[in-house]
Amino acid sequence: MWFSKSQEEAIAEFNTKQVSGLTLQEAQARLAKYGENKLKGKPKKGLIALFFAQLQDMLIYVLLGAAVITVYIGEYVDAVIILLVVILNAVIGVVQEYKAEKAIEALQEMTTPRSLVRRDGEVKEIHSEELVPGDIVILDAGRYVPADLRLIESANLKIEESSLTGESVPSEKNAADLHEDPKTPIGDKTNMAFMSTLVTYGRGEGVVVATAMDTEIGRIATILDEDIEEMTPLQKRLDELGKALGFLAIGICVLIFVIALFQNRDLFEMFITAISLAVAAIPEGLPAIVAIVLALGVTRMSKINAIVKKLPAVESLGSVNIICSDKTGTLTQNKMTVVKLYTLGNEKDVPTEVTDLEASPDEQELIKSFVLCSDATYENGESTGDPTEVALVVLGEKYNLGRKTLHAGYKRVSENPFDSDRKLMSTLNREEHAFRVHTKGAIDNILMLSKYALVNGQAVPLTEEMKATYLKIAEKMSDNALRVLGTAFKNTDTVVSPAEMERDLTVVGLVGMIDPPRLEVKDSIAEAKNAGITPVMITGDHKNTAVAIAKELGIATSLEQSITGAELDELTEEEFVSRISQYRVFARVSPEHKVKIVKAYQAHGNVVSMTGDGVNDAPSLKNADIGVAMGITGTDVSKGASDMILTDDNFTTIVHAIEEGRNIYNNIKKSVIFLLSCNLGEVIAIFFSVLFYWPVPLMATQLLWINLITDTLPAIALGVDPGDKDVMKKKPRNPKEGFFAKGAGFRAVLGGTLIGALTLAAFYFGLREYGYSLSSKNIPEAVLTYARTMAFVVLAGSQLFFSLAMRHSTKSIFQIGLFSNRFLILAIIIGFMLQLMVISVPFLASAFKVQMLSAADWGLVLLFSLVPLILKELSKLFMRDAEAEHIEK
Ligand code: ADP
Ligand code: MG
Repeated sequence: MWFSKSQEEAIAEFNTKQVSGLTLQEAQARLAKYGENKLKGKPKKGLIALFFAQLQDMLIYVLLGAAVITVYIGEYVDAVIILLVVILNAVIGVVQEYKAEKAIEALQEMTTPRSLVRRDGEVKEIHSEELVPGDIVILDAGRYVPADLRLIESANLKIEESSLTGESVPSEKNAADLHEDPKTPIGDKTNMAFMSTLVTYGRGEGVVVATAMDTEIGRIATILDEDIEEMTPLQKRLDELGKALGFLAIGICVLIFVIALFQNRDLFEMFITAISLAVAAIPEGLPAIVAIVLALGVTRMSKINAIVKKLPAVESLGSVNIICSDKTGTLTQNKMTVVKLYTLGNEKDVPTEVTDLEASPDEQELIKSFVLCSDATYENGESTGDPTEVALVVLGEKYNLGRKTLHAGYKRVSENPFDSDRKLMSTLNREEHAFRVHTKGAIDNILMLSKYALVNGQAVPLTEEMKATYLKIAEKMSDNALRVLGTAFKNTDTVVSPAEMERDLTVVGLVGMIDPPRLEVKDSIAEAKNAGITPVMITGDHKNTAVAIAKELGIATSLEQSITGAELDELTEEEFVSRISQYRVFARVSPEHKVKIVKAYQAHGNVVSMTGDGVNDAPSLKNADIGVAMGITGTDVSKGASDMILTDDNFTTIVHAIEEGRNIYNNIKKSVIFLLSCNLGEVIAIFFSVLFYWPVPLMATQLLWINLITDTLPAIALGVDPGDKDVMKKKPRNPKEGFFAKGAGFRAVLGGTLIGALTLAAFYFGLREYGYSLSSKNIPEAVLTYARTMAFVVLAGSQLFFSLAMRHSTKSIFQIGLFSNRFLILAIIIGFMLQLMVISVPFLASAFKVQMLSAADWGLVLLFSLVPLILKELSKLFMRDAEAEHIEK
């Protein structure tokens, strides 16, 4: 039992060392022996199971029933065709589902947690799956514990273990504890850290004692069975739409059958036709197509550094109209450099690219405090840790107050870690005969906690006047967009607790550091504003610094557009909600303010995206419509709570993701409207012919075939249409707006009617060629076959061509580039070739009861097929005029 063994014993038993960890070789050997540190999930469905899952559908049962009846009547060819359609449909379904699943899996792979380990004497970040027993793992706030650990070091370590114990209050850990009782409950094992629990505070180190299924969590295997396959709101809405249309289609089919009954038609034929029509008319492919378009879109987004974790996020992204963004690192480069030092009465510029600098004794104290109170490292041009602290460590190097020597000379005994509510961090370090607290952080907070100031090596009482001076200098630096950090210290005889550290301090001084804005962000902000999106800056930093940078980037124009967290607390909720629209910069805010900000924006019906990286950001990320976590600097918690992760921490990526989100939504809409128009065309052609007592223009098998051609490739190709470059010149979509808003539904009906009418017209021309008309009786079978072939080709052809017009609601196909969607062109060519194949290969032609057409006939059917495309393109001319007028207004 590791919890009853000492740290040393644990380390020795795993044959490892605390300072250097395992060697790489040893780690590899152990990985081979113990396997990957991965909890086993549910077994995945195999291809066969996936295939049979596709068959479990009402429609398929109906079709199979129809096949049985055809066999019974002796129409074996029809039976074979129906079965083939069923199988092909299932195969296509499997392929789509498989592709979508693969895309999602690849994304999940990218977001697997990483852990800090010590190997070969160096600290490395590795995939948590590569951990082996004996590895030395470093824990810090915001990280998930990657395996079961016996702690060997802890500093104010607190771990939230609700996933194991159900207890949501974090438990305090202490590596030095020993538990003799072998029955100690998990929640009381204070010297252990368990896999998939969460570090909420402090730091620690532990040796891995169990990985994968041997861990405590691995033994409770059930928790992995949670189903993550949730439908997006869009998919749900489409599912409902599909069902409604399904019932409508079935109603129409029953109606057709009943009418046919009264008309004394061939009942068997009408029965099969009605069933086929139902199959053709019900857009059963819709959810699958939406799933694959979403999955492909999400894959594309991962290539532009935005990893979407939850599919519904893609839809919400398209309607985001407020982007709340962190300043540091997202709007700025997070490459901080100290450029100014200040000790009372003395301001000094720090030259860049110069070393071996001289500092006054007070300045030396200032730098020493800053370096001792930092966790970052900087060696041979390589740094680890928080960029703010890296800047401080680099400052030390310049003045020959290097981190290594200082930390060796003044060993850290205890600490009170940085947290964005206090905006402070403190450490307790050994001095020659006693101890000293070093505190660094927001200068206003430091001044509040200080009683003295350091002047020429002496701690003198801190007067109001001195405070004002410090604040004036800080403000001046802030106005120049510098980030200001103050420091203070206090001597103590004994080790004081973290709570007592930040009290009665002596201010030493402050530094100003620049963090240049990211170059590309300015353009992105202009782009976002153009697209009807308001970018807003949120920062823990000083108001003046924030506004200076916001002005530079074009987010804000004046100081009046900013508010601090403290000012915000003064307002009532209603006041804040009513004023929120006037602000562009929220400064000096804590994570709780972020939640208030999100809610206030949402109260106005805005769709809000919010960035976050810290442990305490999870609530605001969850509350936002799109929670965005930072891939590089973000904690595991923030990533876990987010909908999207930026792998480059860049604001620009958010804007790109919104653009993608808008395009993906538009593409799905195109596919859906296209499918519905096509299906409607089929229904209309059959329904009217039955209603008016005409011969039926299409046989059951022909309907099934056309449905197969048009419902798959062209619909998917529309779903991956290249983005519209003007999509960011439009206002965000109203999230409540459905697919059929703004006349889209009407246009779908129009398109469908046109397709249906043309199919009937082609049929009529076919009959007329031989001197018959739609109302003739006893038309010879050969004439019917010919006329049906005409209808057959026109129905498929007009749908295929029509797909081109669906690519944009107002731009012509030449404006967007006829060949700019090569998949669609390919889908159309394949569609026509398949069509040609069916009517020209003799055995297929006789199976489908069609015949080869003459060149003149082909000319005619192609002409017919082009009509919906041409009319739709012409109608766009008027729509464009209307739109231009609308914009001018
Ligand atoms: P930002 O939104 O700019 O990332 P933070 O919440 O990180 O803001 O920081 C807010 C303030 O906290 C800073 O202005 C600074 O005064 C202080 N601060 C930031 N990082 C540290 C740190 N590592 N140690 C001490 N204080 C810090
Ligand atoms: Mg920060």
